[in-house]
Amino acid sequence: MAKTPKYVYFFGGGRADGNESMKNLLGGKGANLAEMAGHPALRLPVPPGFTITTEVCTHYYEHKRTYPGELKAQVTKALAEIERLVGKKFGDPADPLLVSVRSGARRSMPGMMETVLNVGLTEQTIQGLIKKTNNPRFAYDAYRRLIMMYSDVVMEKAAGIEPKGGKGIRKILDERLEHMKRAKGCANDTDLTVEDLKALVAEFKAKVREVLGKAFPDDPHEQLWGGIGAVFASWNGKRAVDYRRIEKIPDAWGTAVTVQSMVFGNMGDDCATGVAFSRNPGNGENSFYGEYLVNAQGEDVVAGIRTPAPINDYSKNAQSEHLPTLESLMPELYKQLDDNRKRLEKHYKDMQDIEFTIQNGVLYMLQCRVGKRNGVAAVRMATEMHKERLIDIHTAIMRVAPGQLVELLLPMLDPKAEKAAAPIAKGLPAGPGGARGRAVFSSKDAVEWAARGEKVILVREETSPEDVDGMHKSQAILTSKGGMTSHAALVARGWGKCCIVGCADVEIAGDEKSFRTKKGAVVREGEWVSLNGTSGLVYEGSLPLVDVDLDHNASFKDLMKLVDKARVLKVRTNADTPRDAAQAVKFGAEGIGLFRTEHMFYGEGSDKPLFLLRKMIMSKTLEERRRALDELFPHVKSDIKATLDVMEGMPVTVRLLDPPLHEFVPHDEQKLAALGRELGVDTAELRRRAEGLHENNPMLGHRGVRLGITYPEVTEMQVRAILEAAGELIKDGKKAFPEIMIPVTSALSELVDQKAIVERVYKQTCAKLGLRRIPFLYGTMIEIPRAALTAGRMAESAEFFSFGTNDLTQMGFGFSRDDIGSFLPDYLDKKILPTDPFQTIDEEGIGELIRFGIERGRATRPDLKVGICGEHGGDSDSVKFCHRVRMNYVSCSPFRVPIARLAAAQAAIEDQAAAPAAKKPAARKAAAKKSVAGKPAKKAAASKKPVRRK
Ligand code: PEP
Ligand code: MG
Repeated sequence: MAKTPKYVYFFGGGRADGNESMKNLLGGKGANLAEMAGHPALRLPVPPGFTITTEVCTHYYEHKRTYPGELKAQVTKALAEIERLVGKKFGDPADPLLVSVRSGARRSMPGMMETVLNVGLTEQTIQGLIKKTNNPRFAYDAYRRLIMMYSDVVMEKAAGIEPKGGKGIRKILDERLEHMKRAKGCANDTDLTVEDLKALVAEFKAKVREVLGKAFPDDPHEQLWGGIGAVFASWNGKRAVDYRRIEKIPDAWGTAVTVQSMVFGNMGDDCATGVAFSRNPGNGENSFYGEYLVNAQGEDVVAGIRTPAPINDYSKNAQSEHLPTLESLMPELYKQLDDNRKRLEKHYKDMQDIEFTIQNGVLYMLQCRVGKRNGVAAVRMATEMHKERLIDIHTAIMRVAPGQLVELLLPMLDPKAEKAAAPIAKGLPAGPGGARGRAVFSSKDAVEWAARGEKVILVREETSPEDVDGMHKSQAILTSKGGMTSHAALVARGWGKCCIVGCADVEIAGDEKSFRTKKGAVVREGEWVSLNGTSGLVYEGSLPLVDVDLDHNASFKDLMKLVDKARVLKVRTNADTPRDAAQAVKFGAEGIGLFRTEHMFYGEGSDKPLFLLRKMIMSKTLEERRRALDELFPHVKSDIKATLDVMEGMPVTVRLLDPPLHEFVPHDEQKLAALGRELGVDTAELRRRAEGLHENNPMLGHRGVRLGITYPEVTEMQVRAILEAAGELIKDGKKAFPEIMIPVTSALSELVDQKAIVERVYKQTCAKLGLRRIPFLYGTMIEIPRAALTAGRMAESAEFFSFGTNDLTQMGFGFSRDDIGSFLPDYLDKKILPTDPFQTIDEEGIGELIRFGIERGRATRPDLKVGICGEHGGDSDSVKFCHRVRMNYVSCSPFRVPIARLAAAQAAIEDQAAAPAAKKPAARKAAAKKSVAGKPAKKAAASKKPVRRK
């Protein structure tokens, strides 16, 4: 007989059916509850419960929202086990067991799905609860919360009822609660009396019937199954779907449902509920950080309704410094909690986000999960945990997502401008970095304004999961309420977005079109504000942003040291000025992978060289052209020399002129006239010459190597400039190592043709400078599919390949890199393409061209040096691909160098993890060396030291 599938996993009483490794089946929450409850090293005080697996969710959606037949019996059995442990019965009028019903996906989706608390309270059972607790106020408060949550989550959202006029039942009931508070002159929910709450419950029930056309269910089992169904339904709610899209979480994963016996933080002043992090998620400091509320339930801390108190002195902030800490109020319980956090961190070897409740002086652990952190904190925690020997080097490196490093490199408000400006408000620094944008007051506006290309800052009292899309589209988020564990803080932290929360100085106007600060400043919709997410300061207007100074970030430096130990791929930069080159070297660049010579004809100081270039372009005869080239030569040489000098002997790949000449032709009458005077021709003639350069499809026209074929003298001048620049530096006792790169090639014969020029000029230059040799390499871009397909031939002439994946993607797909914006959104929406191929290498197609090109190239020339210089060189997924296809280096813009270094290290670690035992670290690096140098790998295999590709 087939075994009955297990759909329900129990935990509690020191044992658990599941464990932490079962996240796919039990969701993160269910798996961690099982671990906390059942693992011998933990066995923490977890209220008993059970988790219904994600497989049931899949079944639910595949079978018209129904459950597998075996589920009911398994739930009943597990519920009985909870009853046995707690000593209460579900639905018992004398002493009822109440449960919570919660969602829990494989990966945390904070607040994106539904939760129902206090399930099991009915007209009958409430009497038992009152008798047992002797606390009618508490019982009615719990009942009104159940009605609010249940009517919203189960009876409205899960039932697919569209609220009339956009106002849902929760908002309607909230308004009734506020109305009651106003009528009774109460500031807080906790000030309402039993009679008030009783009246509120009756009013709520009448409203539910009136608005939703159905009575609030008075049967505990109906409530339970309603709750379970609503959680499953919420997997496909708009919020959850939006969030999944942003976070790239597959729709097929589904959610688990956890049903757990309730414990109450709202039964009186010896009760509390809180959220804490085993280390500070905002800056990574190794200090216990958290917030709590006395006499409160579940979501109150995260919802930002009351200002939470700090658990200890360390957690105090401007809003909470006057509030008593948990440590001072309940020292014994705080000690237990602190002890639990230490055990949890030691066990999980990572920062934990903990939810706890204290019921009548007893501490319960309700949840733990790996805590979200911003990039700054991620780097600090990873490196410090490594120093503490909690984690090994590989774990430390894998702990920081390459995208998180971006946050450390994020711009911040210019300190000089900040000093000169007066802040208009101060809140809690929930997300680092600086941001500026126009104030908008709803998520909808944020989305609409951002779609028009506006930079916006979303200003809200507090955010809810409904706001995620708008939050995502905003430069930053500013909330007037809520603490460091509020929804806004949590979500922004996850994304590494600039965010200030709990900014009590800010009061948002009733029409949500402006805010006023305590200092009297008024900011209206559309007006600019600037935020310093690191200090929590808000400024009027648009303050300039500047790049961060990493020199003083010790954790960043530590991480980079670890990363460099692990990676085998080298990282270079694309830079065309000494300034960019120096910046990149500071970020750890090990060479220049692309120096675009044409950049000297744009921007600052380009007037003279551009004029001379134009003169050369407009020349009619060889003689004219040579004259112009001679004049241009010193400019080109000094430009290249300055960058070679900065790079101090590291390889610098100088690419010969690439764009079609027509791009440089002046359109300005004055400039045209000046050029005419210089060449001794009239403007009409010049215009005719310019028109002669016009091409219908210039990207596939007379550019790159084709210019050098038509005008060998242009190649000659550039090669001479490169070699003389290097030679002169060498003569000065410095080091220089240029790599001459021919762009837009598609045939070996092109390379052979140009190489003859290079060899001739090389001899002349050595003779001229009296040098025996000038070290350099000769190579080519591989950016045309034919070049990749004939790579075996190309390598007969080229000593290195640099994959120009911008053009290779353009020509491989036939997608214009300048026009893809018009149709790419449709391709992504319809999942025709998984990602933008100009951002992340399309491994299936363009990647195959690269793989093939490298294989063929190295078959001809085993020590062929291979790199990439397209934009993909700074994209972490693409960097990993480059590692796998055994490139020697990637090259990217200076600010992406640290990201590429991290991605390269992670690629090496992932590669090792995937490799069979025989191909572990040293062997892999040795193999890399062999493929470069063509020497036996034996020695390197024996060594533990990484062998960096050259
Ligand atoms: C490329 O094509 O990938 C490349 C680096 O060259 P460019 O972007 O200058 O065409
Ligand atoms: Mg190109």
